[in-house]
Amino acid sequence: MKKQIILGIALVLILGAIGSFVYYDYHYAPKRTLTFLPKKTLKVAIQPFKGTDKGSVLEVKKGIERYYGLQVTILPDIPLPAHAKNTHILKKYHLKLPVRYRADSLIAYLWDTKPPAYDYIIGLTNQDISTTKPKKPKWLYTDWGIFGLGYRPGPTCIVSTYRLYRYANLAQMRTRLRKIAIHELGHNLNLKHCPHSNCVMQSARESMKTIDTEPESLCDSCKNIVKRKFIVNFPEEQMGKL
Ligand SMILES: [Zn+2]
Ligand SMILES: [Zn+2]
Repeated sequence: MKKQIILGIALVLILGAIGSFVYYDYHYAPKRTLTFLPKKTLKVAIQPFKGTDKGSVLEVKKGIERYYGLQVTILPDIPLPAHAKNTHILKKYHLKLPVRYRADSLIAYLWDTKPPAYDYIIGLTNQDISTTKPKKPKWLYTDWGIFGLGYRPGPTCIVSTYRLYRYANLAQMRTRLRKIAIHELGHNLNLKHCPHSNCVMQSARESMKTIDTEPESLCDSCKNIVKRKFIVNFPEEQMGKL
């Protein structure tokens, strides 16, 4: 009898351990580093804007290096460009909203000032960033706060930490931050929003829940799109699966 109880407890512990490992692996850990990116020639840098905390900068570096398998350089902080403030939008539409920075102006600014040595620049700010969505009501979507924005394709993107602390401890906040950085760099690499729930390229659909439930990795179709960009002889039969 005693033996059966011990065996039962052992079984529960083993199944629990397997279950939590599978859960962790799916939800938090990147599936696998992308091994096919040209590590030596593809140069990525983080451009922190003044006020961004060092921990967030290092977390983005870690997330990009771990998932994309690339080396990331951290550039010295620069001030946010004043012209990127939403002031003109608020005036034009008579909106009473807090000061935010227009994400499209920031990625354009990062492109204009990009050191030629880098292929991709990930801007990082602790300020709220916004964009105009083609949706109604206008007063709500003319200056809509977002997590990040990136050219598709293009050399620059921006990520904001401002909205990531909601209902989250530091570890959860940092997981969100890594996923958003991986997502925005994915846009730079020509990835669109993806319909698959097992993919970091899903549209956030205006909800943090999407980010919290998605894995920190690309689905196979998105991986294939990136492969096609970097592997010249990517097999023809794989392209059909896109
Ligand atoms: Zn996106
Ligand atoms: Zn995908």
